[in-house]
Amino acid sequence: MYDNTVKDYLDQFPVTADARAFLEQPRQMFINGEFLAGSGDGLIDVLEPCTGGLLAQTPAATEADIDLAVAAAGSAFREGEWSKTTAADRQGFLLKLADLVEEHAQTIAEIESLDAGKAISGCLAVDIGGSIDLLRYMAGWATKIEGATRSVSIPGEHLAYTLKEPVGVVAAIVPWNWPFNMAIWKICAPLAVGCTLVLKPAQLTPLSMLYFAGLCQQAGLPPGALNIITGRGSSVGNYLVSHPGINKISFTGSTEVGIGVGQAAMTNINHVTLELGGKSPMVFFEDGDVERVVQATQQSIFFNTGQVCSAGSRLYVHRSRYDEVVAAVAERASAMKIGLTLDPTTEMGPAISAGQRQAVLDYIAIGREEGARLVCGGEAVEGPGNYLQPTVFADCDNSMRIVQEEIFGPVLVIIPFDADEEAVQLANDNQYGLAASVFTRDISRAHRTVSQLQAGSVWVNTHDLIDSCTPFGGFKASGIGKDLGPEQLTHFLETKSVWIEL
Ligand code: NDP
Repeated sequence: MYDNTVKDYLDQFPVTADARAFLEQPRQMFINGEFLAGSGDGLIDVLEPCTGGLLAQTPAATEADIDLAVAAAGSAFREGEWSKTTAADRQGFLLKLADLVEEHAQTIAEIESLDAGKAISGCLAVDIGGSIDLLRYMAGWATKIEGATRSVSIPGEHLAYTLKEPVGVVAAIVPWNWPFNMAIWKICAPLAVGCTLVLKPAQLTPLSMLYFAGLCQQAGLPPGALNIITGRGSSVGNYLVSHPGINKISFTGSTEVGIGVGQAAMTNINHVTLELGGKSPMVFFEDGDVERVVQATQQSIFFNTGQVCSAGSRLYVHRSRYDEVVAAVAERASAMKIGLTLDPTTEMGPAISAGQRQAVLDYIAIGREEGARLVCGGEAVEGPGNYLQPTVFADCDNSMRIVQEEIFGPVLVIIPFDADEEAVQLANDNQYGLAASVFTRDISRAHRTVSQLQAGSVWVNTHDLIDSCTPFGGFKASGIGKDLGPEQLTHFLETKSVWIEL
């Protein structure tokens, strides 16, 4: 139950009766189709980022709770109702869930906005809209999983073919920057192919997924198919990914934590997908369109307060257009409307937590010390909440920490270049390889640069467009494997070769 600070906020910006009723109930985990308080007495505070008020408390799962959730997922996969579903049944469940999310989109967006400090307009359109689309997209794949016959050459008469089988129980772990959308990214593909899951949301942002659990009950999703446990990553997450009952880990989060998760996967010889951090370059050539790059900064590094893994956080600009681009980007950044996230006119909300805001401010201090030129922003916003100004540094170079490290806040660094090859070399000079973009009117230059950039997604004349059908995942330290698109399905399937001597 929320405190008076949140109550005052909700009096100013009323939410749906459904959202208010949800926020007024005590929070429980979702295990084997039921809401459970868990076997421990530990509770984790969930704070509202605009006001700092207490929004909710969630149980800290114990090892016994995690064992229960993994066992529920295991028996649903092996002998429970989920194991008996047909592909058409699974398609039907995902379509039903999509309809329910659509029906309750406003409520989910309000819960998400309060929990994660997300500006509600963008949250409704991008986070919730994208999730509905993905549920429907992956529903369509459930009935289209196919093996193949093979023309073997060994002597004799043989029929050989492959079967695609679900890998088993999936541990899914998601971060706080897109709590609902990232979780839906993790859930759809495994459910479509017949796997079961135990999902752990980030401790800071568990609420939208616990609301979604109620929709799973309404949809009649068989018990154990999806289990949601809450708690800290260092304890609950760590125990879950090391659990012998898990067959596959699907993780999104920082590279630092991802390395440990990958090691845990190898200890049990488990399949693993890692969607990790980024420091994505945008390259603006001398024939680029300024308005397009300004728009790109708005939909990436300044969207969601810069807490976007694929945000275009490094902008390389040809020296002939440098002053013009720096001025245009900074002017639009300075004009952004910062405010309460339930206000539909707000463009940028607060950082997720006081700790995250301080981490961003520390990087801004480092940028000043390193000699970068602060063009706009650079300060915390006075008053309650974890607000920060959109910040632009110019005259940076690749030796600076603010150019090399993921800041995960609304901080853009701009670097000049003189030649195309130099721009590509500078863009690739980073441990990450999640995304990149190119701004040019020259089609040959665009294609040439796209092929040279080391990144899992590359856009031309835009940045951060994502669709259910386009695979998303990093090169280099940004990860292993893909979410979205048909590529994601392959991560949840084993291939079995079958031989018949005729
Ligand atoms: P973290 O890596 O800190 O946390 C991610 C998740 O892992 C959280 O649920 C966290 O739990 C959990 N976790 C923490 N420690 C462990 C552990 N030892 N074992 C298992 N799980 C653990 O990342 P953030 O939440 O800070 O998210 C930001 C990061 O995520 C950024 O680097 C960003 O770039 C990346 N990201 C990548 C995306 C991609 O698709 N490539 C998309 C979105 C974000 P808890 O927080 O509850 O303690």
